Amino acid sequence: MILKEKSLGPQLEPLIGDCVRNGVKGDPSEDWELAIRTMKFCDQYDITSIFLTRFWKMPSEYDLAEMARSEAIIHGSLSALDPQTHIDIITETLDRYEDFGGRSVRRVITAPLLEDSPLWKIQDELMDLRNVLHQPLRFRGTNPFIDQFELSVCEGVKSNTTGKVTNRWRSAKNFLTERYSHTAGCITNCWDCGHQCMSNLGGVS
Ligand code: SF4
Repeated sequence: MILKEKSLGPQLEPLIGDCVRNGVKGDPSEDWELAIRTMKFCDQYDITSIFLTRFWKMPSEYDLAEMARSEAIIHGSLSALDPQTHIDIITETLDRYEDFGGRSVRRVITAPLLEDSPLWKIQDELMDLRNVLHQPLRFRGTNPFIDQFELSVCEGVKSNTTGKVTNRWRSAKNFLTERYSHTAGCITNCWDCGHQCMSNLGGVS
């Protein structure tokens, strides 16, 4: 992948002084070098980069230092459905980023688990971490974990393509937002969202 500065520049101009999310399509961890070059390009427009990542590949210490210097925010997406080793990699890397002075968010993808699921304990513990944003899982009937979900608390959600509510995509947004009302929630309506991916999180005034 290459950075197309000529076409990206005009798209960034209306966002001067604001922030952009890098990781909505694709994961910046696939190519940290490109992610950091893009971040530095955004810096020229006084735009803060917010990286959304699963840490499929690890950033180097130098990468973490570069991102911290740019005051980028890293969101590590994690879930109680993840293997514990992956949860540990994500939380430890976010902690390490903070050691460099970086700002990090634990973006917990919350699931509507069955009432007696042992995963509730893990999910609740994740939700008690610091700097947490919870994002209720949006899933389809083909989701491989669907047998572990309490479907009676789920509702159809708007299709990204048609904007109409459909049962093809479901979420337990209301149920989970009530359970985790002590934290910020990603409601997936960015235009109505007061949290703005926690872009005001400490460090920068
Ligand atoms: S709804 Fe808010 S927290 Fe979620 S992606 Fe949009 S701006 Fe970020």
